[in-house]
Amino acid sequence: MVCGTVTEPATPSEPEVTHKVAISFDRCKITSVTCGCGNRDIFYCAHVVALSLYRIRKPEQVKLRLPISETLFQMNRDQLQKLVQYLITAHHTEVLPTAQKLADEILSSNSEINQVHGAPDPTAGASIDDDNCWHLDEDQVREQVKQFLSQGGYYGSGKQLNSMFAKVREMLRMRDSNGARMLTLITEQFMADPRLDLFQDCQLAPPTGALWVCVVLNPHCKSEEKSGWLKQLKKWGDLDVCPLEDGNYGSELPNITNALPQSNLAQDSLSRPRRSVFSRAVEACDLHWQDSHLQRIISSDHYMSPSYQREGESLLPRPDSVRPR
Ligand SMILES: [Zn+2]
Repeated sequence: MVCGTVTEPATPSEPEVTHKVAISFDRCKITSVTCGCGNRDIFYCAHVVALSLYRIRKPEQVKLRLPISETLFQMNRDQLQKLVQYLITAHHTEVLPTAQKLADEILSSNSEINQVHGAPDPTAGASIDDDNCWHLDEDQVREQVKQFLSQGGYYGSGKQLNSMFAKVREMLRMRDSNGARMLTLITEQFMADPRLDLFQDCQLAPPTGALWVCVVLNPHCKSEEKSGWLKQLKKWGDLDVCPLEDGNYGSELPNITNALPQSNLAQDSLSRPRRSVFSRAVEACDLHWQDSHLQRIISSDHYMSPSYQREGESLLPRPDSVRPR
């Protein structure tokens, strides 16, 4: 963990301001950030970035601290008493009510706090078995998507959502597990929004489906992750409101302007299973990189497997359906 203060220089209208910043690391990733400026965004605030850059450029100047639990372990009783009293003195009004409540709980033998051994340590890194991933403020992602959707696709909110897709793509490229996490949060917000038509109107559905195909095809993902995604994708796909693959809503008739011959259409729409915007991703969950058809597709520019070539429904979306408007 690295703590520091970041000072913003004075401007003609504003005085100099100093912010307290704390950054936790785990195996070379930033796993949590807090900054006194209170800015909330899916991107780190300038002060967190400043402290991170300072740590990268001048590692010898930034002292890495042991987790506080280990420092406390080295102290005897008198030192612990001194530490707590100085701490309370320094932050009298903020800390005293909590300190008194905790003291009552610790002195009461059947309190909840006495049922477990030890105590939490926010400064300690995760254990080696824990998932480690870059800090991502989930509430903030939800909030931003909701906000963009509430702007009704006007004022460039479609563009902003596309920039969130670009962020997901970037994360997937970097093999950052937050890519799937962020896409889940975005999709959840889309599906929960009462104005789901926006999802369709802004052409957000095709890139969402296409990104899910990329996520589930990740050769490095764990099988339990994949089965979790599959369950979620099927659930979304089964919702009545879920947009369909060919750009229609579940409740509407198929679009007759499609290139299919008219005579086949009526029968076709009855016999063909309903394909949601997530159907390709669901199918992709069954695909293995060792699959012989796939191996041949990858190794040749011209090979097309007959089994993946039903009515132009290739597993990967056509380039024109993923391009943002
Ligand atoms: Zn800040």
